[in-house]
Amino acid sequence: MARYAYFESKFVPIEEAKISIMTHAFNYGTGAFEGIRAYWNEQEKQLYIFRLPEHYDRLHQSCRILKIDLKHTTEELCDITRELLRKEGYKEDTYIRPVAYKATEGIGVRLHDLEDGFCIFAIAFGRYIEKEEGARAAVSSWRRVDDNAAPARAKITGIYVNSALSKTEVVERGYDEAIVLTQDGHVSEGSAENIFLVRDGVLITPAPFENILEGITRRTIIELAREELGIDTIERQIDRSELYIADEVFFCGTGVQVAAVIEIDGRPVGTGKIGPICERLRRLYFGIARGKVEKYKHWCMPVY
Ligand code: PMP
Repeated sequence: MARYAYFESKFVPIEEAKISIMTHAFNYGTGAFEGIRAYWNEQEKQLYIFRLPEHYDRLHQSCRILKIDLKHTTEELCDITRELLRKEGYKEDTYIRPVAYKATEGIGVRLHDLEDGFCIFAIAFGRYIEKEEGARAAVSSWRRVDDNAAPARAKITGIYVNSALSKTEVVERGYDEAIVLTQDGHVSEGSAENIFLVRDGVLITPAPFENILEGITRRTIIELAREELGIDTIERQIDRSELYIADEVFFCGTGVQVAAVIEIDGRPVGTGKIGPICERLRRLYFGIARGKVEKYKHWCMPVY
């Protein structure tokens, strides 16, 4: 399969999409990015990109925060992405990575007076965490970046040092995924995914002021729970110890999709198996993302 990237305003073979070691974003983490999934629908022989305009709207927001001039509209970005996937010819689940970044080559930490670059590449992609039906998690000793230190609601490349520290700490201790607390010790999110608890039949998730990334999957889950399961979501502060007494806990995000957490800090969550609400949401999510549910097909953008 011929591999391409969108780079410096054109489609080029992936080997030609290279940046200098002097690039500002490489040295200082001054890039904004997205992670997007496309799902292959075998019956229709169609590749559907899930909630693509929403991802590019968020990229625009990240770019505003980082003073990056993203020259394309959301609509143009959707067209470029579809064209890239068509050129590469994917007939399987795919992950799409657009990056808008400070492209100037040289020294000097700042956001102003720099050139902006933009690229997109895609890769074939399966699971992000293997144990989606039952992940073991631990609370990381690293705290989530604070909005006034590095804006958590922007998907900024440099901020992922925070995610990497948390993830590796718990994986090296034998767990599958990290749960990260805010500076004042309340639950924020996973290392690269949002988190939901189920208590007494209601969903609870940290509010945006808890330094979460405002996830598109999170928004999807809140809507599906209300519309399809008749379950409300409360956005509020969550104590660490609530993790230990919740009936169910699950992560959600583009990469992780919807993943049950069955153990936290050596304590079983609920029964220690995937819970009924998580199971129903997973089934709904995968059907919808793959373009199999008419009611939600407007979330799925066809590539071919
Ligand atoms: N939080 C962080 C830190 C993330 O990296 C992600 C993945 N983009 C999420 C949450 C989930 O966001 P989304 O559902 O938009 O992928």
